[in-house]
Amino acid sequence: MNNDLQGKTALVTGAASGIGKAIALLYSQHGANVMVSDVDETQGREVADQLNALGGNARFVKADVGDPVQCQQLVQETVSAFGSLDIACNNAGIGGEMNLTAEYSLEGWQQIMTINLNSVFFCLKYELDVMLKQGKGAIVNMASILGQVGTSGSPGYVTAKHGMVGLTQTAAIEYAPKGIRINAVGPGYIDTPLLSQLSPEVKQQLIDLHPIGRLGKADEVAELVIWLSSDKASFVTGSYYPVDGGYLAR
Ligand code: NAD
Repeated sequence: MNNDLQGKTALVTGAASGIGKAIALLYSQHGANVMVSDVDETQGREVADQLNALGGNARFVKADVGDPVQCQQLVQETVSAFGSLDIACNNAGIGGEMNLTAEYSLEGWQQIMTINLNSVFFCLKYELDVMLKQGKGAIVNMASILGQVGTSGSPGYVTAKHGMVGLTQTAAIEYAPKGIRINAVGPGYIDTPLLSQLSPEVKQQLIDLHPIGRLGKADEVAELVIWLSSDKASFVTGSYYPVDGGYLAR
């Protein structure tokens, strides 16, 4: 057990599965109170129960991050439950429609912007309200390698993740003087349920894009997020950190 985050309160969206679940678990292992949030109530409650069974202090609140009202309520409920909001990881996201740009549907575009980009603005806005009153806080936004480069067939996802990086930089500049650090993390392809619909052939093609020769693990992303969330990263803000097995170095 590492106690870097002892007594702090951490909020994780999309924490019922994959990367968010690994982050919630590691926040808890580092001593934080954890608000587990997701649209998936069944799996989300299971994660909170798992953290508590391991000796942590976790709660679950269902929230759809595409809805600003639910984001505001989630932040309020976190503060009501634990008394503060010191750390937030805006992680929830979807893969969205896969299509070339000219064939991409208007509905698919709207959906990916709502869930993968607008959500980060909504969460950030209400998290900042609380952190400004506290005079401190650390926020990590879950971007992607596709927040730095493009790829064929995912224009919505790529645009949303690039937008998130720009928002991270802007908010970091605005709130650095107020004691709030905001960073983005850019995973390569990580073996989570998000990739479960891909065929073995496509998975192998993705593996080949990573010089390390495999997909990443959710825990490997979580380790970076925990460091960025902790006081050990006290001089780090407005940064984009890849955790990508060398994908962007190619
Ligand atoms: P995942 O599908 O395992 O988990 C995503 C979680 O987000 C799920 O529990 C889902 O219920 C939740 N979610 C979806 N829509 C939501 C909404 N509207 N409101 C609240 N919760 C919602 O996926 P993952 O791989 O763990 O992805 C987590 C984040 O990491 C996403 O933002 C994703 O874009 C990003 N990411 C993933 C990969 C990868 O290869 N897996 C790579 C780069 C970035």
